[in-house]
Amino acid sequence: MLELREKITEELKSQGVIHVRRITIRRDGQLLNTKHLILTFDSNKLPEHIKAGYMRLSVRTYIPNPLRCFKCQRFGHSKTSCRGTLTCARCAEVGHESTDCTRTEKCVNCKGEHTSFSRNCFAWKQEKEIITTKIKKQISYQEARKLVKSQTPTPGNSYVSVAKKSISAPSADRNKDLYCFYF
Ligand SMILES: [Zn+2]
Ligand SMILES: [Zn+2]
Ligand SMILES: [Zn+2]
Repeated sequence: MLELREKITEELKSQGVIHVRRITIRRDGQLLNTKHLILTFDSNKLPEHIKAGYMRLSVRTYIPNPLRCFKCQRFGHSKTSCRGTLTCARCAEVGHESTDCTRTEKCVNCKGEHTSFSRNCFAWKQEKEIITTKIKKQISYQEARKLVKSQTPTPGNSYVSVAKKSISAPSADRNKDLYCFYF
């Protein structure tokens, strides 16, 4: 018997789906499958439902978490494409990994008193907001970034943010969006 993922991929080709991937979670060092699948459609139009066999599955927009580099701790790229320096995710000092670090917590991205992988991080929340805006408004990352930054003024930075507000360039990196459905 075919696995559900393969069955769905096969069936949904005609409905514009070009890729199917299952969302996995890591628990106690084990990779576990969830009931959620991420579908990539070949267009930007999101259907409300998808038919697979006799199942009618509802479709929701999938918003991924910010990608954080495990080497330099910055957002938007992965370790393999990193051109930064090794920075500790716990204390924000350069030159060592966080594994054995016992120093005071400091965040690389917002300089706050937490680790760089903290979900309470202002920079992480802002990055998530940029990704959400990008997907919901179907605009480029740069456009979404400008929009979010203009809505959350940084104290002492108001002149700079006003001066930088220029006409946004047409979005070149508009991606095919990912959608997820639940059942
Ligand atoms: Zn990096
Ligand atoms: Zn450290
Ligand atoms: Zn932070």
